[in-house]
Amino acid sequence: MGEDAMDRKMPPDFPTEVYDIIVVGAGPAGLSFVRALAGCGLKIAIVEKLPRDVLADPPVDGRDIALTHRSEQTMGELGIWSHIPPEEIAVIRHARVINGTSPYALHFDHREMGKDYLGPIMANHLIRRAAFRAFEAAGNGELIPDRTVVAAGSDERAAWVVLDDGRRLRASLLVAADSRFSETRRQFGIPARMRDFGRSCIVCRMDHAQDHDDTAFECFHYDRTLAVLPLAGRQSSVVITLPSDRAAEVMAMGEDEFNRDITARFGQRLGAMGLSGGRHIYPLVAVYADRFFARRFALVGDAAVGMHPVTAHGFNLGLRGAVTLAHQIRAARGRGGDIGAAPGLRRYHVAHNRAARPIYLGTNVLVGLYTDDRPAARVARNGLLRLGNIFKPARRRIMRQLTDKAA
Ligand SMILES: Cc1cc2nc3c(=O)[nH]c(=O)nc-3n(C[C@H](O)[C@H](O)[C@H](O)COP(=O)(O)OP(=O)(O)OC[C@H]3O[C@@H](n4cnc5c(N)ncnc54)[C@H](O)[C@@H]3O)c2cc1C
Repeated sequence: MGEDAMDRKMPPDFPTEVYDIIVVGAGPAGLSFVRALAGCGLKIAIVEKLPRDVLADPPVDGRDIALTHRSEQTMGELGIWSHIPPEEIAVIRHARVINGTSPYALHFDHREMGKDYLGPIMANHLIRRAAFRAFEAAGNGELIPDRTVVAAGSDERAAWVVLDDGRRLRASLLVAADSRFSETRRQFGIPARMRDFGRSCIVCRMDHAQDHDDTAFECFHYDRTLAVLPLAGRQSSVVITLPSDRAAEVMAMGEDEFNRDITARFGQRLGAMGLSGGRHIYPLVAVYADRFFARRFALVGDAAVGMHPVTAHGFNLGLRGAVTLAHQIRAARGRGGDIGAAPGLRRYHVAHNRAARPIYLGTNVLVGLYTDDRPAARVARNGLLRLGNIFKPARRRIMRQLTDKAA
């Protein structure tokens, strides 16, 4: 487990800006983690390579994030939810999964769970902005913007980082929230399983002629997947997943051609569709760290588990992990113990691994099945959809994942 990297001693001339916790990355997971520690009396630094004004008002990145009820509840408790403009929050009440050109669909219905909706959905840049506002309002962390962590390590007494301006910080605990390609994870020698799907995902918002009735569609066509997720009014978030070597071609399509193509591929279900913003592209690489901690070090957010977006669990899991780790730290602090000690970090690892692993593995199996174009796989997919409709417990289990709240 990279003992050598972990054991790197702090440089002897280490000056000292001393904190209790240093967080690398002020994305939604890092900010939520700091916010979850408000009121603990801990001195926390959060280092972020982006400038402060970008964090305060992040640009549109094309992602619309479907949330679970648990995430909605947590964001409420952390004071994040109140910073999302209500008119920007849409809800998914129904979800339909379609295989190829088959008219048959697996149907998820909020009424079956006795809930008003399966989950809310909103733009990622609004979540980032709201998390930043909640962080600032809580005032329990010092933001060090415009700075990149270039080296990190730990010994038995402290963890440390070096910033790109030469500044050095140390703390009882270092937390990496620096994305699925986490450099800090690498510095600590924690291996991660990466699965490059060889596919990319193109996301955009589109207006359409007909109402979506708060229904999300996941259409598994033979060469690509098309997800259409309901937003406010007659607008949807469109997510196209396709082999990476074909993505450039779709990104280069003229607007009219793209609109016609999506309208046809979606079988005119919402009438004519037209782009209402830019197209954004993301390579699809799923990541699962072998462990979520090392000496005086923990991983949260995508740095711990980076999901394929098809099941919309990435941020939901990241938020859950951030709160789980904060809970362990509060408990250690309450006992007057060491917040960076291994037993608490191990408990975080065990709890988060138990929550994340089945979802991660299940998502990858689903991706494999639905990107397999062989005739047998097509038949198997149809069979599974029918079985899913008939076999209520499986369907209800998936819906429970979306609608359950924290105990
Ligand atoms: C197309 C798409 C659709 C998605 N849909 C959903 C969905 O419906 N539901 C859902 O739950 N999730 C979804 N996700 C996943 C979700 O967007 C991510 O899980 C979430 O944004 C990860 O947040 P994070 O804070 O862990 O990492 P990031 O958002 O990647 O933030 C990491 C931060 O660390 C900073 N950083 C990196 N390295 C350093 C360094 N060395 N020094 C200082 N700072 C550094 C970066 O600048 C960045 O601000 C989707 C993802 C994609 C791509």
